[in-house]
Amino acid sequence: MSRLAVVCGGSRGIGKAVSCLLAERGCRVAVVSRNKDVAQATVASLHGDEHIAFSCDISKEQEVQKTFEMIQKTCGNISYLVNAAGINRDGLLLRTKPEDMVALLHTNLLGSMLTCRAALRSMLHSQGAAIVNIGSVVGLKGNSGQCVYSASKAGLEGFTRSLAKEVASRNIRVNLLVPGFIHTDMTAGMREEALERSIPLGRFGEPEEVARAVLFLLESRYITGEVLVVDGGLQLAM
Ligand code: NDP
Repeated sequence: MSRLAVVCGGSRGIGKAVSCLLAERGCRVAVVSRNKDVAQATVASLHGDEHIAFSCDISKEQEVQKTFEMIQKTCGNISYLVNAAGINRDGLLLRTKPEDMVALLHTNLLGSMLTCRAALRSMLHSQGAAIVNIGSVVGLKGNSGQCVYSASKAGLEGFTRSLAKEVASRNIRVNLLVPGFIHTDMTAGMREEALERSIPLGRFGEPEEVARAVLFLLESRYITGEVLVVDGGLQLAM
């Protein structure tokens, strides 16, 4: 049977591009997001017909547990997990509401921890199992107006490296992919022209360019605990 890939946040943006590429490469893809209609539309657009949409808020432990039990039951053991679900709530720290801080940390950091925890047992039974978490260049470098978002992404780096150590002996690999500015709904309202001037390659990236790097990490059997930056050189200039 073909490999099963679970892509959290797989309905839109970077996650959707990852879902498309994995489907093209012969994986069965479980697309996970809160809005099932959008996830289903994404599933319908994928190459092949063995894919399936799941509605789940990854910040909620019980939903995650139930969803992964359902995935295991209906689709079998998980080979790949990609954590691309994320939100941003930009603003100066003094103006950031505590509930927005909680939402950011619960979705971007806790959410990935919960999905990894829920997937691991199933991954033990797959040869060459791998996880890719999606961080952000601001998690490495920091950015004014993104204190909580960057903290959530910086947390993913420590989490990824620690989990990589924890599960290496079971032959499960865990890596972090760190994008710069990528054309998705998340960046739709940004002042692109001004921001492009700070990127050495002079442009935003495309979700497909990130997806190819995610695939590389998933398939690279001798890479674990690594951080791969896909940012057009942005971090060099930060
Ligand atoms: P989008 O906003 O385009 O897509 C986000 C995806 O995550 C959607 O599928 C959304 O579906 C899902 N999602 C959001 N919250 C939850 C939740 N609580 N539970 C389940 N699914 C959820 O974002 P991007 O594709 O741009 O971002 C993907 C990842 O890459 C994020 O982690 C983001 O922080 C990171 N990133 C993005 C950058 C960029 O420039 N675009 C730069 C650096 C990092 P739904 O709303 O239906 O739940």
